[in-house]
Amino acid sequence: MIEIKDLHKSYKMGSNSLHVLKGINFSVEEGELVAIMGSSGSGKSTLLNILGMLDEADEGDYVLDGIPIKNLNETKAANYRNKFLGFIFQSFNLINYKTALENVALPLYYQKMPRKQRQEKALKYLDQVGLKEWSHHLPSELSGGQKQRVAVARAMVAEPKVLLADELTGALDSKTSYEVMDLIQKINDQGNTILVVTHEPDIAQMCKRIVHLKDGVIVKDEKVKQVKALANV
Ligand code: ADP
Ligand code: MG
Repeated sequence: MIEIKDLHKSYKMGSNSLHVLKGINFSVEEGELVAIMGSSGSGKSTLLNILGMLDEADEGDYVLDGIPIKNLNETKAANYRNKFLGFIFQSFNLINYKTALENVALPLYYQKMPRKQRQEKALKYLDQVGLKEWSHHLPSELSGGQKQRVAVARAMVAEPKVLLADELTGALDSKTSYEVMDLIQKINDQGNTILVVTHEPDIAQMCKRIVHLKDGVIVKDEKVKQVKALANV
């Protein structure tokens, strides 16, 4: 599903340059649940943003579902992004003046799906994350855990090939974090490919494989015995 080879990325700042990713190699098969773990500043978000086509590498190859991701124009990149990828962020990134249902339906609007179909599909996904009853509430009326569930539904609604989550539990208390990870595990159990960036070892243990990133290189890549999130609640 994902193949990257010898990926490099530097940030230029004036005459200085910060070499953040220093030759990353890995691949992810369909259906995997992978944690990318490392301390703050190790390059996790930089890597995820490149995988998510929000940023481009300086060097190296990236193939997503058989398609080489290189030198795409903005329109093509945006199309692939909408079709292939779902994003979940630490800060939820919901639109405050739109209801839970409208937030979830938004990616379908960009796909030009008719309104009625959009709403039906969004409601189905809200139901899957246990929030059907909350569909007409605004984000400000939801708890942190509920907001992240809405964000998960929004990431899923366009049926992406890969879900990318950057510190999705970073703004949540432990119990709520584990509930959100339970949802991630259930979505993965349905066959979805998911990458979770985290600096928290307990969250990483809830995945099936942990890729350890340190100072821009992979120092360890291990399959783990998955801890069921609900065992912790
Ligand atoms: P992580 O997500 O693991 O905390 P990041 O990928 O966000 O790490 O950052 C890796 C390094 O790159 C850090 O030193 C950070 O300060 C730097 N960095 C991240 N984004 C930028 C940017 N847009 N411009 C300059 N430096 C950046
Ligand atoms: Mg980060």
